[in-house]
Formats: sequence, structure tokens, C-alpha cells
Amino acid sequence: LSGAGKTNYDLVGIGIGPSNLSLAALLEPFKGLRSCFFDRTREFKWHPGLLFREAEIQVSHLKDLVTLADPTSRFSFLSFLHDKKRLYRFIHAGFPRIRRSEFDQYLHWVASQLPNLHFSRPVDAVCWEDDGLVVRTGGEKIRTRHLALGSGLTPLLPAPVRPHLCDTVFHSSDYLLRNVKPGNRRVLVVGGGQSGAEVVAQLLADSTALPRELYWVTRRSNFHPMDESPFANELFTPTYSEYFFRLPQHIREKLVGEQKLASDGISANLLQNLCQRLYELDFLERSHCRYQLLPGRELCRVRQEGGDWCVEIQDMLSERCTEIRADYLIFCTGYSWVVPSYLEPLLDRIELDGGQFRVHEDYSISWQGAPEHRIYALNAARNARGVADPNLSLLAWRSSKIVNSLMGREVYSVDEAAVPVSWNEIGEKNLPAEQGRLLGNLVEDPPLRQPASRAGLR
Ligand SMILES: Cc1cc2nc3c(=O)[nH]c(=O)nc-3n(C[C@H](O)[C@H](O)[C@H](O)COP(=O)(O)OP(=O)(O)OC[C@H]3O[C@@H](n4cnc5c(N)ncnc54)[C@H](O)[C@@H]3O)c2cc1C
Repeated sequence: LSGAGKTNYDLVGIGIGPSNLSLAALLEPFKGLRSCFFDRTREFKWHPGLLFREAEIQVSHLKDLVTLADPTSRFSFLSFLHDKKRLYRFIHAGFPRIRRSEFDQYLHWVASQLPNLHFSRPVDAVCWEDDGLVVRTGGEKIRTRHLALGSGLTPLLPAPVRPHLCDTVFHSSDYLLRNVKPGNRRVLVVGGGQSGAEVVAQLLADSTALPRELYWVTRRSNFHPMDESPFANELFTPTYSEYFFRLPQHIREKLVGEQKLASDGISANLLQNLCQRLYELDFLERSHCRYQLLPGRELCRVRQEGGDWCVEIQDMLSERCTEIRADYLIFCTGYSWVVPSYLEPLLDRIELDGGQFRVHEDYSISWQGAPEHRIYALNAARNARGVADPNLSLLAWRSSKIVNSLMGREVYSVDEAAVPVSWNEIGEKNLPAEQGRLLGNLVEDPPLRQPASRAGLR
């Protein structure tokens, strides 16, 4: 990057997580487009604080950085396995879902092959100077035509906890970075999603270092599984994303609420493992660990007394409060999108709607410098694109749309694929162009002549 102060780029990417890594990988064949990407961390790491040995990814490994956009890309998960000479072993091992640690290795492997990624480079600010975009990182100024914002989500914490954050009170994203020693301690875990379940499983894994007391609290009415049923998976397709994008805002908000468990529930096999582990502890190991699973409870207050954390928990049905005393408080309370602080100098030029970007069809946002200077928002459009936006499922497709927008032509196909559900008006079919022609008579049937119950069938 020497002399980068004078360099003009076509695109600067901020943050190198899976979102921008996918974009960088799919841009790699287009050498004419000058791009570079910055991350504040020393090297690529995928959520290191939650990289438990047993943790699995919640989607097919084919939903990697590139395959769904270009199955011939050299940056696919299969290419990684081939390069590492473990393809046969991988097939024979027959993992139903791959481990997150292996996906992290894959992401690291892709990152190591892209020379335009720069680590230990926090972006401090983005400014508008001399009619152009300027990115400031480590005292350096870099001019760019377009930007790709891929700096991820921010850990979410209940308000009463924020003043108390310390080595024994923290968000789950820090779990493995904290050197937690649960043995013979009292631990309170808050949050009934996947991270909460993973942390509880971790705390109960080692029979020689079990907590003395373990409380697992969630506002949810039970420890609900993730909805991985075939039609729930339809929400994670380009067709649904495009349909959702065209809906009115108030309907989108309602749907995101309804679809929560399709993205934020607990993997069914993790729930089963937990259930079995509790059985083992109670009847086979007769352990001393006293645990309480507490759904339908909300945290109200936190205070410190002596060496104890005293937490007031309210039963959401009876509204009765109880106090729990613990040594560790671990908050598995999710993530949310907030306007990145590095955008502050640009905020008077950016259009926000309820604190969110207004995102266009190509993932660029509404702002005064457009269209000559586009700012693309990756993993920042749940309000516009639905529950799939923070997920890996549409990563490659979203990157394809951004590459096409940058190149001004369709270099990656973003055609909507055939789907079994009619999200659109009755009678409109989601068929690929070719199949649509073959079945022309079916597609052209006037909608009202089809029996309503068959309207969704191909
Ligand atoms: C533990 C965990 C497991 C998940 N597992 C799955 C899964 O199995 N399947 C699935 O579909 N989804 C999963 N997700 C959801 C989603 O796929 C991931 O969160 C994914 O990492 C999102 O990628 P991202 O690039 O948008 O953000 P991130 O991965 O958060 O990356 C953002 C990057 O931006 C950098 N950054 C931030 N600010 C700056 C700055 N100012 N300057 C420079 N760099 C900056 C950060 O250091 C970070 O590297 C998981 C999420 C979590 C938390």
C-alpha cells in the first residue's frame, strides 16, 4: 500500500468478514477494477470468541463465498478441500453439517490468496473531500470512487448490564477470549438462541469443571428450535429476497418478526445434545451441578454485592421477580446493525429511515454522492431484504449483484431460480426463462382459471 495516499481506487471495502471476502473473491477475475479491503484485526478470524470445537455451520457448505454465483470459481469450499488434499476424507467422514472451525480455515485460505486485503488497518473515518470519497485509516488517506461497507453487526446488550461490563460480565462474542473458569462457580447465561445454547453446552461439556449452579434465562416462551423445514429455507433464496424487497415497509417489518425462528432458533441437533447431556449429568454422572432452565423470564436489574452479581429476573407471565446470585453473567443476546462510527463525517449526506439505510436494488444506499459514487451496504439491509440478509445463504448472490452494479453489466447471472412457492400474485410463476418458455401454456393460463389450491404448484 506504499504511496496509497495518492492512489485512486474504484472500490474500497471496509471490514473483511465473509460479506466483503465474498465480494473480493468474486471481483478477483476483473483485474481492471482496482479494489482494496481493510480490516482492523491482525488476521482473518471468523467470530473467534464463539469458535467452539463442536460448533457447526447452520447452512449447507455449498453456500460458501462463491459457489452459488460461480461454481467454477477457484475460491469455492470444494477447491479448498481439494487444495488441502482432504477431499476423499471429507466425503468419507460424511458430516451432515461442517464444523465452524473448518469453515474458518476455508475463509482464512481464501483471504490468504487475495493480495488486496489489508489487516491491522482500522478505518477511522470516511469523508467527502474535493468532490470525492476519502477513507482514513492509520493516518493515511485513500481516495476511492465507491465503497463497500462490510463491518458487520454490533453485539447487543440489555441496558441494565452495560455499566457493569468486565471480565465476569460480558457478551457471548467474547466468550473464548475471556478465559472463563466455570468450575464450581455460579454462572448465569441470558439468551435463548443458538449462541446461548452453544455457551450452555460448552459450560456443561467438561465433567471435571462443571459450574456449581447454572441458570439459563430467556424471554422466549421455550428453547425453540431453528425452523429448517424445506419451505422455511425458501426465505433464503434470491426469489424471496427480491419479492420481500418490493413489499411495503410495514409488511416487511411484520414478516421479519414472524420469521425470527427461521434464522434465530437453536439447531435441532444441539438441542438434542443438550437434552442428552442434562440426562447424563442427572442420572449417569450424578453430578453436583445444579441447573435451572428459565424460559419466559426477563432480566430487570443488575447490581454488585460483595463478590456477587445480583440479578433480578422477572417471570413474564406472573410478573413475579426473583433474585439470582452469580459469579459470571454471560449475555448471548444477539447482534444489531448500527450506523458505523467511521461514517459520522458523511452522515449529513446519507438518507436514513428510522436509523437504517435506504437500500436500492443493487445494495447501494441513498446518499447525496450517488450515482457517481456508490456506497454498498453488506449485511445492513435486514429491513429491506429480510432475515436472510445477515446469513451466509445469499452472500454470493448479493456479491454478484454488487459486482454487476460496479461493472455496469451482468457478469454474474442473478436470475431468480425456479421456486415451489408462489410468493408473487397468484398466477405469476417463478420459473427460469427457459422452463417458462417450455411450459408457456401453463404460465400463460389466466390466473382465475386455475383452481386456487393449485395456484402455487409448478
Ligand atoms: C458465532 C456466529 C456463527 C454464525 N454462524 C452462521 C452460520 O452457520 N450460517 C449462517 O448463515 N450465518 C451464520 N452467522 C451469521 C453471519 O453469517 C456471520 O455473522 C458473518 O460473519 C457475517 O459476515 P460479515 O462479513 O457481514 O460480518 P463480520 O463477520 O462481523 O465481519 C465484519 C468485519 O469488519 C471488521 N471491522 C469492523 N469495523 C471496522 C473498521 N472500522 N475498520 C476495519 N474493519 C472493521 C471486523 O473486524 C470484522 O472482521 C453466524 C454469526 C455468528 C455471530
